Amino acid sequence: MPASYDVVVIGAGTGGYVAAIRASQLGKKVAVVEKQTSLGGTCLIWGCIPTKALLEHAHAFKIVLNSDEWGIALPYGAPAIDMRQVHARKDRIVTGLTKGIEFLFKKNKIDWIKGTATLAGRGRVEVVEGEKQVLEAAEIVIATGSSPRGVPGIEIDHTRVITSDEAIHLQEVPKSLVILGSGAVGVEFASIFRRFGSDVTIIELLPRLVPIEDEAVSAELEKAFKKQGIRSLTGTKATKASATGAGVEIEAQGPDGKTQKLTADILLVATGRGPVTTGLGAEALGIAMEKGYIKVDTLYRTSVPNVSAIGDVIAIDGRAHPQLAHVSSAEGIVVAERLAGRDARPLNYDHVPSCTYCDPEIGSVGLTEAAAKQQGYEVRTGSFPFGVLGRARMAGETEGFVKIVADKKYDEVLGVHMIGPRSTELVAEAVLALRLECTVEELVKTIHAHPTFSEAIGEAAHAAHGAAIHM
Ligand SMILES: Cc1cc2nc3c(=O)[nH]c(=O)nc-3n(C[C@H](O)[C@H](O)[C@H](O)COP(=O)(O)OP(=O)(O)OC[C@H]3O[C@@H](n4cnc5c(N)ncnc54)[C@H](O)[C@@H]3O)c2cc1C
Repeated sequence: MPASYDVVVIGAGTGGYVAAIRASQLGKKVAVVEKQTSLGGTCLIWGCIPTKALLEHAHAFKIVLNSDEWGIALPYGAPAIDMRQVHARKDRIVTGLTKGIEFLFKKNKIDWIKGTATLAGRGRVEVVEGEKQVLEAAEIVIATGSSPRGVPGIEIDHTRVITSDEAIHLQEVPKSLVILGSGAVGVEFASIFRRFGSDVTIIELLPRLVPIEDEAVSAELEKAFKKQGIRSLTGTKATKASATGAGVEIEAQGPDGKTQKLTADILLVATGRGPVTTGLGAEALGIAMEKGYIKVDTLYRTSVPNVSAIGDVIAIDGRAHPQLAHVSSAEGIVVAERLAGRDARPLNYDHVPSCTYCDPEIGSVGLTEAAAKQQGYEVRTGSFPFGVLGRARMAGETEGFVKIVADKKYDEVLGVHMIGPRSTELVAEAVLALRLECTVEELVKTIHAHPTFSEAIGEAAHAAHGAAIHM
């Protein structure tokens, strides 16, 4: 007899494992099918956690490289990065966290079925590789995530031309690294390997780095990268790349139409990710798809009853769906609550924080200045530079600013965009401000502790009302 569950989740990434835990907390009998040998999916194994661990190493190295400034005497000569220790520490962090999810599964009595799942008809999931079996499920949640996507004409050989999955495991610091794409993944690896000593060039098709961010943020990042020695080729299209014994030869067409040749030890293709649905049997079950993604409504129902989908694998509501760990987890909670008969409400995707952990960090939420104008708002903005703050000077992190975008008529905060120290943490205040439909006046009246980086938010609010105190 097949094992029978209230909910079978396919995929134990940040979407699937959170959905499973919440469903179990709400009284459901839950199994999760996961084909990897550890839980946590992209975020824990190749994504958020290992990259941010490497970025912490890069930050530590930055302090050591400036040891004179910090008054730290290094008796053994010039500091160097030890990649063996870097990877050992990163792997310990990853293992600790994936084991943590195993513990949570046990605590919540969730069965982890180790293998690859396929949809085998209404209410049936077949595990076709690994622990082969058939599972009966009153509800199925697809959370199979995404994988790196290439660029036409550029073959990924996983050695010289690599994706983030390989970049995270590079055992040696490449002498030279070319990165295709300046989204979060591209600029984070640029920050890591530049700090570790690589000669880094970024090729971005669009006219500016981190193109989804506010234009002022893009300009500040490009300035900061230039200072660090990272070359940014914006408005440039990589047309060809061929791996040679010694490295990679790349051809790229600049904004003037001229082709230039670049060579590098490694080419990292960081141009986005596509859905993982191969072999899943979604189409055969009649699930409506959109460019390979699983189409869902705002409560994550697919076109087939009792089958839901969440996370990187979905297309929702005709709009770009953010492929972020915290988004997939939030969707996991909504879907679990709906399946448990709770009052589940659609998420507001306008209030999703976007964090990029490059150096300097970027945190943003809501409308950019350009988007607000495009939507017809009469916009007012206020900016405040971190460099003025005592706390930023103490940390030696004086680049960047906080920018508030507000509606002039009602004073409502429409977006907050920051680049600079701790921006990925500071953005939390901005997310709450948007969720509570806060006015700039309320931010002005909010007391920010001194000396902190968060003072930049209060000061940017003052600036939006005409005058910052410390400028
Ligand atoms: C380098 C990098 C850095 C990132 N950094 C951040 C960050 O800092 N912050 C952030 O919010 N997001 C970040 N992301 C994005 C984030 O990792 C993803 O948005 C998130 O992991 C999506 O979660 P998911 O559950 O939808 O899918 P995934 O995490 O991809 O999980 C899907 C799981 O399903 C399993 N699976 C697939 N098919 C099957 C099958 N048929 N049977 C069984 N199992 C299956 C896979 O093995 C996988 O474990 C980063 C991504 C990358 C690549």
